[in-house]
Amino acid sequence: MIEVVCSSCTKSALLIHSEAPVTVEHFLDIDYSSRIWEFNCIHCLKRMTVLWEETKKFSLTNKVEIGNEVVWAWNKNHLAFIVSVLKKEEITNHAWANFRTYINKSWLTKIHNNSVINKLEALLKNT
Ligand SMILES: [Zn+2]
Repeated sequence: MIEVVCSSCTKSALLIHSEAPVTVEHFLDIDYSSRIWEFNCIHCLKRMTVLWEETKKFSLTNKVEIGNEVVWAWNKNHLAFIVSVLKKEEITNHAWANFRTYINKSWLTKIHNNSVINKLEALLKNT
């Protein structure tokens, strides 16, 4: 599941892989690129089906620009894991833990200041 900005109401909406069980948090280990995704906004009730290529036109909800770097996550759970790694309080049994190696190396080397981590944590509290 990917959290994106709704093009109609600008609130947070979901892109859900039509064939992934809801319990599959990290869609990366299913065939995510060739299947249909369901866009669903609970705020304005906009719904549509999109292909993987079309999902790129949506802006991710969970991202923070820091200088010329953008720290982003597929969804809040993913963000929570990234924040735990950045804070050096890594949650080892996390659903996204197997994808730790995909965390951008420059985030790990550049981000140790609290204001950045606070911004990311503020995103976690947004609904
Ligand atoms: Zn909407």
